[in-house]
Amino acid sequence: MTDDSLDGKTAVITGASSGIGEATAGALAGAGMNVALAARRTEELDALADAVEAEHDREALVVPTDVTDEAQVEALIDETVETFGGLDVVVANAGMGTTEPVAEIPTESYRRMMSVNVDGSFFTARAALPHLEESSGNLIFMGSFAGQYPRPGAAVYAATKWWTRGFALSLEGSVGGDGVAVTVINPTEVRTEFGSESGDSQAERFAEDEVTSPETIANAVRFAASQHPPNTTSEIDLYRRDKFEHF
Ligand code: NDP
Repeated sequence: MTDDSLDGKTAVITGASSGIGEATAGALAGAGMNVALAARRTEELDALADAVEAEHDREALVVPTDVTDEAQVEALIDETVETFGGLDVVVANAGMGTTEPVAEIPTESYRRMMSVNVDGSFFTARAALPHLEESSGNLIFMGSFAGQYPRPGAAVYAATKWWTRGFALSLEGSVGGDGVAVTVINPTEVRTEFGSESGDSQAERFAEDEVTSPETIANAVRFAASQHPPNTTSEIDLYRRDKFEHF
């Protein structure tokens, strides 16, 4: 069902080629938005664009983007604004993580997590903010439970998500007065391709219904995106029910 506050507006979604980003594209197009789909895998983006257009009768723009490259991120935002005439919602979702013990982590793994999760979120926010100020729009970051509590098995990944929350909440203070809403969404485990870089993906590790579905997180994004001035949803914690069992 379309949503009056989102119908006909425009969203950029990074990390749209799978998992939470892919589901978010469906949820926002379902709410009536045109969507710009960004990630590196073009074939997946093209297939998603076809599906979104067929199912929701909205436009989907594919912009192959590596979020670690600031020029590509700026081009993504520029092309979206040029195509749709503005920008209302940005979902900084692209992310990855590996789990080597810190004493053994190759510098390349460390740098990749930092560049995708930290630099990528920063480049996306910086390029989008002037447009979001114009539209009094919504900037939504994909955080994590790992950005709220220690994650001993993935210290660097966790630190990138603590950065994301620190950045998002601080940014909320600095751009809220300009009318921009900032949200950080903190999921626990979600059944996606996440984790495949260092072993089994979450989809392989967990059975359906054992952990959160990408569509559930996408609905939280849609809820955050539908807030308009003067409101924002600062943080949404979306946990599996047994998450605190071991605390
Ligand atoms: P997926 O692995 O399914 O999706 C990750 C997405 O990020 C893909 O679309 C991938 O696209 C994209 N991506 C990775 N590197 C880059 C890059 N350099 N430039 C552009 N896009 C990139 O995992 P999820 O959907 O689970 O992950 C989405 C977000 O959710 C991440 O930020 C993750 O940290 C967070 N999260 C996930 C949880 C989980 O349990 N799954 C729990 C908590 C948070 P491509 O490879 O085509 O570039």
